[in-house]
Amino acid sequence: IAVRKPLLGSALSGFLGQNRKILIDGKWVQAQNGQTFEVEDPATQEIIAHVPLGDKADIDLAVAAARRAFDSGPWSRMSPGERSRIVWKLGDLLEKYADEFAELEALDNGKPVTNARKGDVQGSIEMFRYMAGWATRLNGETIQVSSPGNWHAYTLREPVGVVGQIIPWNFPLMMAAWKLAPALASGCTIVLKPAEQTPLSALRFGELIQEAGIPDGVVNIVTGFGETAGAALAAHPDVDKVAFTGSTEVGKIIVRAAAGNLKRVSLELGGKSPAIVFPDADLDLAIAGTADAIFYNQGQCCTAGSRLFAHKSVYDKVVAGVAAAAGKLKIGHGLDPTVNLGPLVSKEQHDRVKGFLDSGRKEGAEVVTGGKIAGNQGYFVEPTVLAKTNRDMRVVREEIFGPVVCVQSFDDDSLEAVAKFANDTEYGLQASVWTRNLKTAHMMARKIKAGTICINTHNYGDPAWPFGGYKQSGWGREMGKEVMEHYTETKSVAARL
Ligand code: ADP
Repeated sequence: IAVRKPLLGSALSGFLGQNRKILIDGKWVQAQNGQTFEVEDPATQEIIAHVPLGDKADIDLAVAAARRAFDSGPWSRMSPGERSRIVWKLGDLLEKYADEFAELEALDNGKPVTNARKGDVQGSIEMFRYMAGWATRLNGETIQVSSPGNWHAYTLREPVGVVGQIIPWNFPLMMAAWKLAPALASGCTIVLKPAEQTPLSALRFGELIQEAGIPDGVVNIVTGFGETAGAALAAHPDVDKVAFTGSTEVGKIIVRAAAGNLKRVSLELGGKSPAIVFPDADLDLAIAGTADAIFYNQGQCCTAGSRLFAHKSVYDKVVAGVAAAAGKLKIGHGLDPTVNLGPLVSKEQHDRVKGFLDSGRKEGAEVVTGGKIAGNQGYFVEPTVLAKTNRDMRVVREEIFGPVVCVQSFDDDSLEAVAKFANDTEYGLQASVWTRNLKTAHMMARKIKAGTICINTHNYGDPAWPFGGYKQSGWGREMGKEVMEHYTETKSVAARL
């Protein structure tokens, strides 16, 4: 593995060179306790920055600022058109600094810079532009009531208030954009807590918040750990809603913490998504697509196609094809534009994935390719294909969050039976179906219990396409018009005429 020394754009070097601070009420400040924590480049294990170790005291200040900005500040009362223009501007500013953000993500998370630019950063730009449109489209309705007499009944859509947003490390900037864009468009104020593994792009984005002219206190960004800063935010009595993306385990903790004041909760949690290849699939497309479904972002996607089902008649070809695709991936430092597979985000993830590889081998899975950690520096793992797996293996049941796919074959021709395999999981975030048959595709779309279904593609996403999970993959939908439900309250008004 060639771990290249990072080559950085000058703007980014300046950002890394400074002591980072957190954003509270429009000011960049240290944590109240004066402490910081280290941020690591997962490819070289070098320390690249120190950021404030925010905890409850900082969350309290940030929530108070967001509350003031909501109750008495201009944001929630600004005309929707003005808010729309400012949210749009965030997209423009991200575009202006796009290369810098892509490098920052590659350095902090480890992901290939080319993917960061085309996926994370571009996706974030488009999210702000799409959501800017919703600011001017949050209308209530007039309601035809059936009570006797003359009535004028209608609904108003109002911003939900102060929102706590807790985000993960797999798509640091994009997860911030998914959450900030709709909250801002609807007139909410925000306290954002980035993941401790990857706090840098959110802090850099805080500078764009100011450059865009968003009033002080509307967006507050506090770095810190989950059990302290995150927990304080989820439990805070003055927060009206918490939006969380992360593990199912922590999602359950968030729900319990939020119960104190019954704040609204939306959750995007884990997945163990099936990718199902039918015998009539375009096999070149299906092999390339199912390989990408698991290896993209080093397998650290909540939608990763980690359970690959191939019909018996194409099983050998699919296994060999995905293994060959794995062999072609260039592993290395994310900042190298020719690299396709970077390191995992952290030592913890590296140890976890290694544990799953050992467990798969012990439980009798056939290691077709990969199967080991890679290199002796950084958190690299070989892209791995485990064949002859079955429903009872830990590698099939649990979310690995690494570049490891478990392949199973099926020979049943009833769609009902195939859907049963696909649904044999506690998760339900995404599924992909690979076939040329329209009926198979759309019948499977109905039978699979998942929030998002992809036909002849996987890991699909678009700002207009509602995204979220069935079962233990979460509550609610982000993106599309559905997300606005999370960030607004409906108020019903009835007037006797
Ligand atoms: P992973 O296990 O993939 O690292 P987590 O679900 O632990 O993902 O983390 C996602 C986000 O949730 C991070 O911002 C993390 O700091 C935060 N978090 C972790 N534990 C808690 C907690 N107990 N309360 C609130 N937030 C938490």
